[in-house]
Amino acid sequence: ETYSTQILKDEAATVHAASVLAKQLQPGQVIYLHGDLGAGKTTLVRGMLHALGHVGKVKSPTYTLVEPYMLPFATCYHFDLYRFQDAEEWEAAGFRDYFNPASVCLVEWPERAAELLPVADIEIRFDILPHGRVLHITSQQALALETLCQ
Ligand code: ADP
Ligand code: MG
Repeated sequence: ETYSTQILKDEAATVHAASVLAKQLQPGQVIYLHGDLGAGKTTLVRGMLHALGHVGKVKSPTYTLVEPYMLPFATCYHFDLYRFQDAEEWEAAGFRDYFNPASVCLVEWPERAAELLPVADIEIRFDILPHGRVLHITSQQALALETLCQ
């Protein structure tokens, strides 16, 4: 089990945390990312995808809801459910199938589709400080995060 609270003093610290976490992901996992607009959810996802070998842009899928990344490690799906409303759309779009043993799903605003989502393997929450962020990580898994706070 992991319950961790850490201060991330700047964006570089968020990117560092992302790479530490990325190394501990396993195919099939679901990661929830909570926090207000501008808290750092997409920054963390971007850092994870780059750490997993993605080269190039990571744009926020605010309108498309999901963006796929075919990486050597796994196919990663980055969801942003901020604008999600319609449960029928979830089924029609086949999003259910995106959650499978070969994929990793990184989900911003999971509370917007709570009843449709599988449970999370790792839950991440950002609180905004005037200068920096507080990062909360919860998991049933034992995560090695000592090096996270640099
Ligand atoms: P979200 O996806 O949660 O809406 P974004 O990742 O798009 O947020 O934006 C977060 C903003 O906060 C970016 O401008 C980023 O540079 C900044 N940021 C990220 N991490 C930190 C941090 N630890 N301290 C201060 N600013 C940060
Ligand atoms: Mg975002």
